Amino acid sequence: MMHISSHHLEALRMVLAGKVITPEDADYDTVRIQWNNDVDRRPVAIARCVSPADVAAALTFAREQDLEISVRGGGHAFSGAGVCDDGLMIDLSAMRHVSVSAGARLAQVGGGTTVAEVDAATQVHGLAVPTGVISHTGIGGLTLGGGIGWLTHKAGLTIDNLVSVDMVLADGRYVHASPEEHADLFWAVRGGGGNFGVVTTFEFQLHPVGPEVHLGLFFWGMDHGEQVLRLARDVVPHLPAEAGAQIAIGLNAPPAPFVPPQYHFTSGYLLIVVGFSSAAEHARLVAPIREALPPLFELVTPIPFVALQRTLDETAPWGLLGYQEVIYLDELTDDVISVIVDHMPAKRSPMSFCLVFRLDGAYSAVGDDETAFGGRRAPRYVINMAGIGATPEILSADRAWVRSLWSALLPFAEDSGGYVNSMTDNDDDRVRASYGPAKYERLARIKATYDPGNIFHLNANIKPAHSPVP
Ligand SMILES: Cc1cc2nc3c(=O)[nH]c(=O)nc-3n(C[C@H](O)[C@H](O)[C@H](O)COP(=O)(O)OP(=O)(O)OC[C@H]3O[C@@H](n4cnc5c(N)ncnc54)[C@H](O)[C@@H]3O)c2cc1C
Repeated sequence: MMHISSHHLEALRMVLAGKVITPEDADYDTVRIQWNNDVDRRPVAIARCVSPADVAAALTFAREQDLEISVRGGGHAFSGAGVCDDGLMIDLSAMRHVSVSAGARLAQVGGGTTVAEVDAATQVHGLAVPTGVISHTGIGGLTLGGGIGWLTHKAGLTIDNLVSVDMVLADGRYVHASPEEHADLFWAVRGGGGNFGVVTTFEFQLHPVGPEVHLGLFFWGMDHGEQVLRLARDVVPHLPAEAGAQIAIGLNAPPAPFVPPQYHFTSGYLLIVVGFSSAAEHARLVAPIREALPPLFELVTPIPFVALQRTLDETAPWGLLGYQEVIYLDELTDDVISVIVDHMPAKRSPMSFCLVFRLDGAYSAVGDDETAFGGRRAPRYVINMAGIGATPEILSADRAWVRSLWSALLPFAEDSGGYVNSMTDNDDDRVRASYGPAKYERLARIKATYDPGNIFHLNANIKPAHSPVP
């Protein structure tokens, strides 16, 4: 393992307002862990930054010591990009703050904040920013890659609601990026991931949402897969603006009060339709679902928006081992449905799943080139396949299952690209396919301006144009 002298570490401690944590410290193992417990990397030191000045000092230190760096926002990347071996981990988890200007409908959010914390602070004012569907995800990585969730249909991706960012660049400079300042950088951070610097503050446009919204959850057994996916294909693309939906396949029914005891832990197909307008409108939306295909059980209820955002939290807790793949598909054709249905029984872990998310509505109202998002804006589906288990053996089996399902879906896709936030391996060809050649080249030129040495490369990496790469 690489070693930094105690003299140099002491120098870092002197300039950092936050804490410097090394392998000798009792909290080292708890701080270096990521959501994906399959990742076990040991940085030489962790800089738990509390301010932009700390981030700049940590970057300067890493440069002087010639250390690899990783940046940890919420620690949720399947790839474990937030932690590195033998380098300096810049930990933003102490930079968790949200300040809301309710009148202007704006929120300033610290780079290490979680989705739950953003929701809690904005919902006090009956406002929300579109984020993801698991509330313990970090806003940092989620935003920089795009941000898909319940509000995508109504209000677009998280990046479609980004107003500006404060960043620390690889050379330690502070910049504010917005449509007016460093517009090239502002374009790039809206989808280009953590390639361009460390975002210390995100500024978001907020929307009136809730506080009460409507949940419509319908569950069928594994034997009804084809019918459920055909029904979802008929219903979901026609939802009104004030609704959103997701299809989750392979999850077990929880032992919750709304689940009849005989179905506890039964694996099945879940269609969730959420509504952001009235109870009557939501009832009208979901009625055709139960009429077309009576579910084993359902839960149609008003629910606080913050609770909706937590509904699926327990399906993906911290501490398990995971591997994920992703693909975009224009249509859920009968052949695609058959592939998914045929593959589901082969998964080994009850926690492994396939998620089908429709991208349309406000998502498609944004032009392909308006942001750097890795994916076209025409209406389509994003399919996430995740193997999640408690042991390396189960993960190994379901990694093979994920790859097999992904390979079987590939012939139906335009290319091998996908939502970069959902990739585990970050293969160069997949990253390039996700952005497409023109967008990738534009990103590469911006990368050459702001991070020519590719300091920020533990991510879905954009190689700087005409620059040496590590
Ligand atoms: C259980 C689970 C559920 C998920 N659900 C959704 C979902 O509903 N919708 C969705 O869109 N995505 C979802 N994701 C994917 C998620 O968006 C990505 O994993 C994202 O990278 C997480 O961000 P993070 O800050 O928590 O992760 P980290 O691992 O901390 O960071 C991920 C990447 O972003 C960089 N980064 C993080 N913060 C900053 C920052 N402030 N400045 C610069 N770089 C930064 C890191 O360096 C790293 O490269 C989910 C992931 C998991 C594991």
